[in-house]
Amino acid sequence: SIVITGATGQLGRLVVADLLVAGVAPDDVTAIARSEEKAADLGVHVHVGDYDRPETLEGAFAPGDRVLLISGSEVGKRVPQHGAVIDAAKAAGVAQFVYTGAFGGPKADFALADEHRATEDLVLASGLPYTFLRNNWYTDIYTAGLADTIARGAVTNAVPPEGRIATASRADYAAATAVVLRTEGHLNAVYELSGDTAWTFGEFAAEVARQSGQPVAHNSVSAEENKKILFSAGLPDAYAGILTDVDAAIGRGLLAGTPGDLSRLIGRPTTPIADSIAAALAG
Ligand code: NDP
Repeated sequence: SIVITGATGQLGRLVVADLLVAGVAPDDVTAIARSEEKAADLGVHVHVGDYDRPETLEGAFAPGDRVLLISGSEVGKRVPQHGAVIDAAKAAGVAQFVYTGAFGGPKADFALADEHRATEDLVLASGLPYTFLRNNWYTDIYTAGLADTIARGAVTNAVPPEGRIATASRADYAAATAVVLRTEGHLNAVYELSGDTAWTFGEFAAEVARQSGQPVAHNSVSAEENKKILFSAGLPDAYAGILTDVDAAIGRGLLAGTPGDLSRLIGRPTTPIADSIAAALAG
Protein backbone atom coordinates (compact mmCIF):
# COMPACT_ATOMS: atom_id res chain seq x y z
CA SER A 1 0.00 0.00 0.00
CA ILE A 2 0.83 3.69 -0.03
CA VAL A 3 1.74 4.99 3.44
CA ILE A 4 1.74 8.73 4.12
CA THR A 5 3.25 10.53 7.09
CA GLY A 6 2.13 14.05 7.94
CA ALA A 7 -1.23 13.03 6.48
CA THR A 8 -3.15 15.34 8.80
CA GLY A 9 -1.10 18.34 7.68
CA GLN A 10 -1.98 20.69 4.85
CA LEU A 11 0.19 19.01 2.19
CA GLY A 12 -0.58 15.47 3.38
CA ARG A 13 -4.34 16.00 3.23
CA LEU A 14 -4.08 17.17 -0.37
CA VAL A 15 -1.90 14.16 -1.33
CA VAL A 16 -4.39 11.69 0.19
CA ALA A 17 -7.27 13.39 -1.62
CA ASP A 18 -5.38 13.38 -4.93
CA LEU A 19 -4.61 9.66 -4.63
CA LEU A 20 -8.27 8.84 -4.02
CA VAL A 21 -9.47 11.10 -6.85
CA ALA A 22 -7.00 9.33 -9.17
CA GLY A 23 -8.66 6.03 -8.36
CA VAL A 24 -6.35 4.53 -5.72
CA ALA A 25 -8.54 2.38 -3.46
CA PRO A 26 -8.93 3.79 0.08
CA ASP A 27 -7.98 0.33 1.32
CA ASP A 28 -4.57 0.74 -0.32
CA VAL A 29 -3.73 3.97 1.53
CA THR A 30 -2.57 4.34 5.14
CA ALA A 31 -2.19 7.65 6.94
CA ILE A 32 0.33 7.92 9.76
CA ALA A 33 -0.96 10.46 12.24
CA ARG A 34 -0.31 11.49 15.81
CA SER A 35 -4.03 11.63 16.48
CA GLU A 36 -6.48 9.01 15.25
CA GLU A 37 -9.27 11.54 15.67
CA LYS A 38 -7.59 14.16 13.49
CA ALA A 39 -7.13 11.56 10.72
CA ALA A 40 -10.63 10.11 10.92
CA ASP A 41 -12.04 12.20 8.06
CA LEU A 42 -9.29 11.19 5.61
CA GLY A 43 -11.23 8.08 4.58
CA VAL A 44 -8.19 5.76 4.61
CA HIS A 45 -6.52 3.41 7.11
CA VAL A 46 -4.89 5.18 10.04
CA HIS A 47 -1.76 4.13 11.94
CA VAL A 48 -1.08 6.21 15.02
CA GLY A 49 2.59 7.14 15.03
CA ASP A 50 4.85 9.90 16.30
CA TYR A 51 8.34 10.61 14.93
CA ASP A 52 9.46 11.32 18.50
CA ARG A 53 8.46 7.82 19.63
CA PRO A 54 10.13 5.37 17.21
CA GLU A 55 8.37 2.41 18.82
CA THR A 56 5.06 3.79 17.48
CA LEU A 57 6.39 3.41 13.93
CA GLU A 58 6.88 -0.33 14.32
CA GLY A 59 4.32 -2.11 12.19
CA ALA A 60 3.55 1.05 10.24
CA PHE A 61 5.20 -0.27 7.08
CA ALA A 62 5.15 -3.60 5.23
CA PRO A 63 7.44 -5.05 2.56
CA GLY A 64 6.66 -3.52 -0.84
CA ASP A 65 4.96 -0.39 0.52
CA ARG A 66 5.42 2.98 -1.12
CA VAL A 67 6.14 5.47 1.65
CA LEU A 68 5.89 9.25 1.69
CA LEU A 69 7.82 11.06 4.42
CA ILE A 70 6.54 14.62 4.57
CA SER A 71 9.20 16.62 6.39
CA GLY A 72 8.27 17.48 9.97
CA SER A 73 7.44 20.95 11.18
CA GLU A 74 9.78 21.25 14.18
CA VAL A 75 12.98 22.84 12.89
CA GLY A 76 15.98 21.53 14.83
CA LYS A 77 14.37 18.18 15.68
CA ARG A 78 13.87 16.88 12.19
CA VAL A 79 16.96 14.77 11.59
CA PRO A 80 16.33 12.27 14.43
CA GLN A 81 12.58 12.37 13.67
CA HIS A 82 13.07 11.60 9.99
CA GLY A 83 15.75 9.06 10.90
CA ALA A 84 13.19 7.13 12.95
CA VAL A 85 10.88 6.90 9.92
CA ILE A 86 13.72 5.84 7.63
CA ASP A 87 14.84 3.13 10.09
CA ALA A 88 11.31 1.72 10.33
CA ALA A 89 10.90 1.77 6.54
CA LYS A 90 14.23 0.05 6.07
CA ALA A 91 13.41 -2.63 8.66
CA ALA A 92 10.18 -3.35 6.80
CA GLY A 93 11.79 -3.44 3.34
CA VAL A 94 9.61 -0.87 1.60
CA ALA A 95 9.70 -0.55 -2.19
CA GLN A 96 9.89 3.24 -2.51
CA PHE A 97 10.78 6.00 -0.05
CA VAL A 98 9.60 9.45 -1.12
CA TYR A 99 10.89 12.50 0.76
CA THR A 100 9.88 16.17 0.49
CA GLY A 101 13.15 18.10 0.78
CA ALA A 102 14.35 21.56 -0.18
CA PHE A 103 14.75 22.99 -3.66
CA GLY A 104 18.38 22.72 -4.76
CA GLY A 105 19.28 19.76 -2.53
CA PRO A 106 23.00 19.93 -1.75
CA LYS A 107 23.17 23.40 -3.40
CA ALA A 108 20.66 24.87 -0.93
CA ASP A 109 23.19 26.43 1.46
CA PHE A 110 20.73 28.25 3.74
CA ALA A 111 20.14 27.03 7.32
CA LEU A 112 16.55 25.89 6.75
CA ALA A 113 17.80 23.34 4.20
CA ASP A 114 20.37 21.71 6.53
CA GLU A 115 17.98 19.12 7.93
CA HIS A 116 16.69 18.28 4.44
CA ARG A 117 20.21 17.58 3.18
CA ALA A 118 20.94 15.46 6.25
CA THR A 119 17.69 13.53 5.69
CA GLU A 120 18.52 12.85 2.05
CA ASP A 121 21.90 11.52 3.21
CA LEU A 122 20.18 9.17 5.67
CA VAL A 123 17.86 7.91 2.93
CA LEU A 124 20.80 7.31 0.59
CA ALA A 125 22.72 5.50 3.35
CA SER A 126 19.69 3.28 4.02
CA GLY A 127 19.92 1.87 0.51
CA LEU A 128 16.14 2.18 0.07
CA PRO A 129 14.87 2.98 -3.45
CA TYR A 130 14.12 6.70 -3.13
CA THR A 131 12.34 9.56 -4.81
CA PHE A 132 13.47 13.01 -3.72
CA LEU A 133 10.94 15.80 -4.20
CA ARG A 134 12.90 18.97 -3.59
CA ASN A 135 10.16 21.51 -3.07
CA ASN A 136 10.52 25.20 -3.69
CA TRP A 137 8.35 27.46 -1.51
CA TYR A 138 4.57 27.32 -1.48
CA THR A 139 2.90 30.45 -2.90
CA ASP A 140 0.42 29.88 -0.08
CA ILE A 141 2.90 31.07 2.55
CA TYR A 142 3.07 34.45 0.84
CA THR A 143 -0.68 34.74 0.30
CA ALA A 144 -1.55 33.62 3.85
CA GLY A 145 -1.37 37.08 5.39
CA LEU A 146 -2.69 39.07 2.46
CA ALA A 147 -5.27 41.06 4.44
CA ASP A 148 -2.47 42.36 6.71
CA THR A 149 -0.25 43.05 3.72
CA ILE A 150 -2.98 45.16 2.12
CA ALA A 151 -3.73 46.97 5.38
CA ARG A 152 -0.03 47.87 5.74
CA GLY A 153 0.37 48.66 2.04
CA ALA A 154 3.61 46.69 1.91
CA VAL A 155 5.17 43.27 1.58
CA THR A 156 8.11 43.65 3.95
CA ASN A 157 11.08 41.25 3.95
CA ALA A 158 14.86 41.17 3.46
CA VAL A 159 14.72 40.00 -0.15
CA PRO A 160 16.53 42.49 -2.40
CA PRO A 161 14.26 44.10 -5.05
CA GLU A 162 15.74 42.01 -7.87
CA GLY A 163 15.46 38.68 -5.97
CA ARG A 164 13.26 36.11 -7.72
CA ILE A 165 11.47 33.04 -6.40
CA ALA A 166 9.68 30.33 -8.39
CA THR A 167 6.86 29.28 -6.06
CA ALA A 168 3.94 27.00 -6.89
CA SER A 169 0.77 26.31 -4.96
CA ARG A 170 0.80 23.70 -2.20
CA ALA A 171 -1.82 21.88 -4.28
CA ASP A 172 0.61 21.72 -7.24
CA TYR A 173 3.28 20.04 -5.08
CA ALA A 174 0.67 17.66 -3.66
CA ALA A 175 -0.44 16.69 -7.17
CA ALA A 176 3.16 15.87 -8.16
CA THR A 177 3.63 13.89 -4.95
CA ALA A 178 0.56 11.79 -5.69
CA VAL A 179 1.88 11.12 -9.21
CA VAL A 180 5.22 9.71 -8.02
CA LEU A 181 3.40 7.54 -5.46
CA ARG A 182 0.88 6.00 -7.86
CA THR A 183 2.81 5.71 -11.13
CA GLU A 184 6.00 3.89 -12.12
CA GLY A 185 9.37 5.22 -13.19
CA HIS A 186 10.35 7.34 -10.20
CA LEU A 187 12.82 5.11 -8.34
CA ASN A 188 16.18 6.66 -7.47
CA ALA A 189 14.99 9.87 -9.09
CA VAL A 190 15.40 13.48 -7.96
CA TYR A 191 12.88 16.16 -8.90
CA GLU A 192 13.50 19.85 -8.39
CA LEU A 193 9.94 21.11 -7.98
CA SER A 194 9.20 24.78 -8.57
CA GLY A 195 6.71 27.03 -10.29
CA ASP A 196 7.00 27.73 -14.01
CA THR A 197 7.67 31.44 -13.39
CA ALA A 198 10.13 33.14 -11.05
CA TRP A 199 8.73 36.42 -9.69
CA THR A 200 10.01 39.37 -7.69
CA PHE A 201 8.27 40.68 -4.59
CA GLY A 202 7.72 43.93 -6.48
CA GLU A 203 5.73 41.97 -9.07
CA PHE A 204 3.86 40.15 -6.29
CA ALA A 205 3.00 43.45 -4.57
CA ALA A 206 1.87 44.98 -7.87
CA GLU A 207 -0.45 42.05 -8.52
CA VAL A 208 -1.95 42.31 -5.02
CA ALA A 209 -2.42 46.05 -5.60
CA ARG A 210 -4.07 45.45 -8.98
CA GLN A 211 -6.50 42.86 -7.65
CA SER A 212 -7.34 44.61 -4.38
CA GLY A 213 -7.43 48.14 -5.76
CA GLN A 214 -5.22 49.23 -2.81
CA PRO A 215 -1.66 50.57 -2.95
CA VAL A 216 0.83 47.80 -2.08
CA ALA A 217 4.61 47.88 -2.61
CA HIS A 218 7.60 45.68 -1.80
CA ASN A 219 9.50 47.08 1.16
CA SER A 220 12.98 45.50 1.09
CA VAL A 221 14.69 46.01 4.45
CA SER A 222 18.07 45.03 5.90
CA ALA A 223 18.55 41.64 7.52
CA GLU A 224 18.81 43.27 10.96
CA GLU A 225 15.60 45.25 10.46
CA ASN A 226 13.78 42.17 9.16
CA LYS A 227 14.80 40.07 12.18
CA LYS A 228 13.53 42.84 14.48
CA ILE A 229 10.19 42.95 12.64
CA LEU A 230 9.74 39.16 12.80
CA PHE A 231 10.81 39.08 16.45
CA SER A 232 8.32 41.77 17.40
CA ALA A 233 5.63 39.87 15.48
CA GLY A 234 6.18 37.03 17.94
CA LEU A 235 8.64 34.75 16.16
CA PRO A 236 11.41 33.23 18.29
CA ASP A 237 14.76 34.93 17.67
CA ALA A 238 16.36 31.85 16.12
CA TYR A 239 13.49 31.35 13.70
CA ALA A 240 13.50 35.02 12.70
CA GLY A 241 17.16 34.51 11.77
CA ILE A 242 16.45 31.35 9.80
CA LEU A 243 13.70 33.05 7.77
CA THR A 244 15.84 36.11 7.13
CA ASP A 245 18.59 33.79 5.92
CA VAL A 246 16.10 32.37 3.38
CA ASP A 247 15.45 35.92 2.12
CA ALA A 248 19.19 36.33 1.52
CA ALA A 249 19.24 33.02 -0.36
CA ILE A 250 16.39 34.28 -2.56
CA GLY A 251 18.56 37.32 -3.24
CA ARG A 252 21.37 35.01 -4.37
CA GLY A 253 18.98 33.32 -6.82
CA LEU A 254 18.83 29.97 -5.03
CA LEU A 255 15.04 29.67 -5.31
CA ALA A 256 14.69 31.16 -8.80
CA GLY A 257 15.23 27.98 -10.82
CA THR A 258 12.50 26.89 -13.22
CA PRO A 259 13.62 23.45 -14.47
CA GLY A 260 10.00 22.47 -15.25
CA ASP A 261 10.02 19.20 -13.26
CA LEU A 262 6.80 20.12 -11.46
CA SER A 263 4.69 20.97 -14.51
CA ARG A 264 6.06 17.87 -16.29
CA LEU A 265 5.00 15.59 -13.42
CA ILE A 266 1.50 17.07 -13.13
CA GLY A 267 0.99 17.40 -16.89
CA ARG A 268 -0.16 21.02 -16.71
CA PRO A 269 1.32 24.45 -15.97
CA THR A 270 1.82 25.32 -12.30
CA THR A 271 -0.68 27.70 -10.68
CA PRO A 272 0.23 31.32 -11.52
CA ILE A 273 0.69 33.62 -8.51
CA ALA A 274 -2.16 35.80 -9.81
CA ASP A 275 -4.51 32.82 -9.36
CA SER A 276 -3.23 32.12 -5.84
CA ILE A 277 -3.65 35.79 -4.94
CA ALA A 278 -7.19 35.78 -6.33
CA ALA A 279 -8.06 32.63 -4.38
CA ALA A 280 -6.65 34.12 -1.17
CA LEU A 281 -8.56 37.39 -1.66
CA ALA A 282 -11.77 35.47 -2.36
CA GLY A 283 -11.30 33.14 0.64
P1 NDP B 1 1.84 21.22 8.21
O1 NDP B 1 2.42 21.89 9.41
O2 NDP B 1 0.43 21.51 7.82
O3 NDP B 1 1.96 19.64 8.40
C1 NDP B 1 3.01 19.01 9.08
C2 NDP B 1 2.62 17.56 9.32
O4 NDP B 1 3.70 16.90 10.01
C3 NDP B 1 1.36 17.41 10.20
O5 NDP B 1 0.58 16.36 9.70
C4 NDP B 1 1.96 17.03 11.54
O6 NDP B 1 1.09 16.25 12.34
C5 NDP B 1 3.14 16.19 11.10
N1 NDP B 1 4.10 16.05 12.18
C6 NDP B 1 4.82 17.03 12.77
N2 NDP B 1 5.56 16.53 13.78
C7 NDP B 1 5.29 15.20 13.83
C8 NDP B 1 5.72 14.14 14.67
N3 NDP B 1 6.57 14.35 15.69
N4 NDP B 1 5.25 12.89 14.43
C9 NDP B 1 4.37 12.66 13.43
N5 NDP B 1 3.91 13.62 12.61
C10 NDP B 1 4.36 14.89 12.81
O7 NDP B 1 2.83 21.56 7.01
P2 NDP B 1 2.52 21.45 5.43
O8 NDP B 1 1.69 20.24 5.19
O9 NDP B 1 2.06 22.75 4.91
O10 NDP B 1 3.98 21.23 4.87
C11 NDP B 1 4.61 19.97 5.00
C12 NDP B 1 6.05 20.15 5.40
O11 NDP B 1 6.72 20.93 4.40
C13 NDP B 1 6.26 20.94 6.70
O12 NDP B 1 6.22 20.08 7.81
C14 NDP B 1 7.63 21.54 6.49
O13 NDP B 1 8.67 20.62 6.75
C15 NDP B 1 7.63 21.84 5.01
N6 NDP B 1 7.19 23.19 4.67
C16 NDP B 1 7.47 23.62 3.42
C17 NDP B 1 7.10 24.87 3.01
C18 NDP B 1 7.41 25.31 1.63
O14 NDP B 1 7.06 26.46 1.30
N7 NDP B 1 8.01 24.49 0.80
C19 NDP B 1 6.39 25.81 3.90
C20 NDP B 1 6.08 25.25 5.17
C21 NDP B 1 6.49 23.98 5.53
P3 NDP B 1 -0.13 16.93 13.19
O15 NDP B 1 -1.27 17.08 12.21
O16 NDP B 1 -0.39 15.92 14.25
O17 NDP B 1 0.36 18.23 13.72
